Amino acid sequence: MKPQNSLLSGIGTTVFTVMSALAAQHGAINLGQGFPDYEGPEDVVRAAADALLDNRNQYPPLTGLPELREAVAAANHRFYGIQADPAAEVIVTSGATEAITASLMAILDPGDEVVLIEPLYDTYLPVVRLLGAVPKLVRLAPPKWELPRAELAAAFGPRTKAILLNSPMNPCGKVFTAAELAFIADLLQRHDAYAICDEVYEHLTFDGWKHIPLMTLPGMRERCLRIGSAGKTFSLTGWKVGYVTCDKSIAGNVAKAHQNLTFTTPPNLQRAVALGLRKGDDYFDSLASTLQSRRDRLAAGLERLGFGVLPAMGSYFITADFRPVMGAEAADDVAFCQHITEAAKVTAIPVSAFYAGAEAPTHYARFAFCKNEAVLDAALERLATWQAGRGVARAAPRAAAG
Ligand code: PMP
Ligand code: GLN
Repeated sequence: MKPQNSLLSGIGTTVFTVMSALAAQHGAINLGQGFPDYEGPEDVVRAAADALLDNRNQYPPLTGLPELREAVAAANHRFYGIQADPAAEVIVTSGATEAITASLMAILDPGDEVVLIEPLYDTYLPVVRLLGAVPKLVRLAPPKWELPRAELAAAFGPRTKAILLNSPMNPCGKVFTAAELAFIADLLQRHDAYAICDEVYEHLTFDGWKHIPLMTLPGMRERCLRIGSAGKTFSLTGWKVGYVTCDKSIAGNVAKAHQNLTFTTPPNLQRAVALGLRKGDDYFDSLASTLQSRRDRLAAGLERLGFGVLPAMGSYFITADFRPVMGAEAADDVAFCQHITEAAKVTAIPVSAFYAGAEAPTHYARFAFCKNEAVLDAALERLATWQAGRGVARAAPRAAAG
């Protein structure tokens, strides 16, 4: 048989699926893949259920139901002051995953260069490559994950078509600052490039950090494709409803990409998300504050166990240096995450999975805190028991020898 697509044959199954399967196999508490273990708002779920039963289950319009496009446009204005024409500048997709692919398809020709920032979400690189475009990687360094401005500027050149920017950022919880965004905006203008802005964690920011869409900066309205996800905003990750907001000059191509990927997105979910996006400020405030207290609970617990927990200003995740816990036994992050899944029955994601270039850091694990408090506590307890057991195991030979 002739070989199949070599790019797809060359990549493995996503780390999230691999680690979730390993967690299930070992009966581990899964703090790996980022999904809440609590339900989204009941009125939104009920709206989706009711919408199944009122005979409007055929293909919705290609770019999304008008009521959802209007709700997305209204949310853009309400949260960020962005004006968008719901009829011409919003496209509903099947998840942000599709929105990212459709946006890249809309912009890129083979040979175009795309600036990507490591650590990066796992679909970015394969999709860029499948489109025949050329990734230019720029790396943020822990523990501060600051934008390396000189390196970013050097990654831009005459063939740069776009940057793909994720803020708040998975896995490191970074929220790009106004100054960093201004620096990026300047590069985009100087190189006449677009920005695909993966803003799925837009409402999940902590400690007073506010998400700033790059699109709101001067000169950026026409250059940015801003992507949101109902999965994250309503804690319903299985729903896969995403939305792209962009200038009408770009929206036509995004719609054509969507037309060739999925064409439409389930209408009942669209109607429910439209209702959700119009919820009061109290909903959005408590979404963030509840997650913040879960972050604090997990971070404090991991710190007590000796992990080097890095600050997270947004997203579902904290990253933690496990070397202080493992000491001389520290292996790489893949081995560590496998080990704690099997031995402590707690699963995390190796952060090196978010890197493509050589010499990625291999001493960080990503823990999801979008879980009930009791589950976070149970995970910490399991880690404490595992750690105590290790202490005994390590001490025993020494005692015998002494
Ligand atoms: N981008 C990032 C950074 C993510 O973490 C996720 C996680 N699901 C997605 C995109 C995909 O979102 P969706 O589930 O809406 O496809
Ligand atoms: N975005 C989720 C995470 O980072 C996972 C999504 C997926 O499993 N593909 O954990």
